[in-house]
This record gives sequence, structure tokens and C-alpha cells, in this order.
Amino acid sequence: MPERRNVYLHYVEEEKTKEKVDRLRELGRKYNFRLVDNVKDANIIASIGGDGAFLQSLRRTDFQEDCLYLSINDGHLGFYADFDLEDLESIEKAMQTDMVEVLRYPVLEVTIDGQKGFYCLNECSIRSNVIKTFVVDIFIDGLHFETFRGDGLVISTPTGSTAYNKSLKGAIVDPRLVSMQLTEMASLDNNNYRTLGSPLLLSGDRELVLQVVQDGNDHPIMGVDNEALSIRHSKEIRVKVSERKVKMLKLKDNSFLHKVKRSFL
Ligand code: NAP
Ligand code: MN
Repeated sequence: MPERRNVYLHYVEEEKTKEKVDRLRELGRKYNFRLVDNVKDANIIASIGGDGAFLQSLRRTDFQEDCLYLSINDGHLGFYADFDLEDLESIEKAMQTDMVEVLRYPVLEVTIDGQKGFYCLNECSIRSNVIKTFVVDIFIDGLHFETFRGDGLVISTPTGSTAYNKSLKGAIVDPRLVSMQLTEMASLDNNNYRTLGSPLLLSGDRELVLQVVQDGNDHPIMGVDNEALSIRHSKEIRVKVSERKVKMLKLKDNSFLHKVKRSFL
């Protein structure tokens, strides 16, 4: 990636990582990278921290389409982080060789009542924040598919399939499969309410519409990755796989399947 030289570092300043971050800056200078203070000047965005920190850095930098993202964890690797701040040698080695590749990860685009959209790399979730259940009419490509009543719903991306989705017994999805998955949280199933009950994997060209059935007592909260949005008065949530992708710098020998194996098997 010879043409990409301007790096924006995203991290939470902490005493314990300060020295390591300084060494990372030095390494960058050695290889003629420029550190920029404004994300608008960057063509590489490096996040330091775990997967949660990486999700934050994407949101803070607005899911830049033209930038290459990389995630550097401190002490262990995550699902997004392929590089380790403890092991600067391997970062240096990766820069000199062809051990790295750029992958494009699908993201979701979520629109609430026709307002400006949100992107999600892991998932968007909607759930009741009171003890009462809440009701949602679910449409797929205009077809009324089911009426959900229960705790909530999660719509995840392939890379998000190993996170919240997995706890809800959703399938692990290969990120090469451009798709989104709908999973349920504690649905009520009786003669009045019936839902599919199994996770539903949808092709990337479908559109999901969730209409919150308001009976005056609903207080659903919505999550886009690790951030909460209040949608108390919102009615319609549209979710689709975005045309936009997150471009990530990854190590070739640490594929999605390696990570699934390392973390779960
Ligand atoms: P958190 O509650 O501190 O951490 C949740 C855990 O999920 C962390 O260990 C995090 O890794 C890991 N994680 C994040 N993205 C992942 C992915 N794509 N695949 C596998 N593991 C992943 O919150 P957070 O660190 O800000 O992460 C936000 C994510 O937590 C949400 O997007 C959602 O997927 C997940 N979450 C899960 C549940 C659940 O399973 N019941 C409930 C709420 C949220 P790091 O330690 O490296 O950050
Ligand atoms: Mn975390």
C-alpha cells in the first residue's frame, strides 16, 4: 500500500499503553508514515484496543469508505484485531512482506423514520427496556412476514455473527457471504403470536422493515454496535446491507476460520 501514508490513530489515552503507543508512532515514522490529527487527512485509520474499541473507532470516524482500517489490540487478538501492540516486531514484519491483505466487510445501513442512516459492523438490536414485552411487525421486501412479541431482535452482519448473534444461537456466517441475519430474543409463541423461532439468514439484496406497534407503553431501545439510541417515538426501522464496505488490513494467516477455531473450539 505505497500510496497510503497518512495515519490517524484512534485510542483511549491510558498510562499503561502510552509507552507502547509511542513506540508504534516511532515505527510509523521509520516507515515514512505521517501521523495526522484530523481524520479527514487520513487514508489509514488504526484503532488501538479490543473489538469494542474498534467498533467505537469506526463510529467516531464515520465509517470512512476511502480509508483502510486496522485494529491493534493490547495483549491479545480479537475478531477484528489482527495486530498486537505487545508484538511490534510482527507488525514491522507484516509491513515489509506480503503477509497482509485487504478484506472488505459488509456493514448494515439502518434508517429510522426516514432520517439519516446509521452504519453497523456487528449488528443492530432493538429491545424493550421495560419489563413489558414489545411488539414489532416484520416485513421482508414488502411482505408482512411475522408479528414479533418478546424481548427484542438482533440483525447481524457476517462478522458480527460471532458476537451478540452467537449468544442468541444464530449461525456463524462466513464474511464472504454478503448477508444479514435476524435472530430473536425470547419471543412469545402462542395462538396470538407466532414467530419463525429460528435464525433467518437473508441475502444481501433484501430489505427488512421493523414497524414498532405502539400501544403507549413501549420503550424500545436500539443498539447500533456498542452504542445505544433512544427510539421511543420512532415507528419504522429499515435495515439493509449497505453498498459501503469497511476495508480492513488483515494478516493472511489469521483468517475468520482461524479466529472462530481459536475462540470457540
Ligand atoms: P462488551 O459488552 O464489553 O463486550 C462484548 C464482548 O464481545 C467483548 O469480549 C468483545 O471483545 C466481544 N466482541 C465484540 N465484537 C465481536 C465480534 N464481532 N465477534 C466476537 N466477539 C466480539 O461490549 P463491546 O466490547 O463494546 O462490544 C460490543 C458488542 O458486544 C456488540 O456489538 C454485541 O455484539 C456484543 N454484545 C453481546 C451481548 C451478548 O452476547 N449477550 C450483549 C450485548 C452486546 P473485546 O473484549 O475485544 O472488546
Ligand atoms: Mn470490549
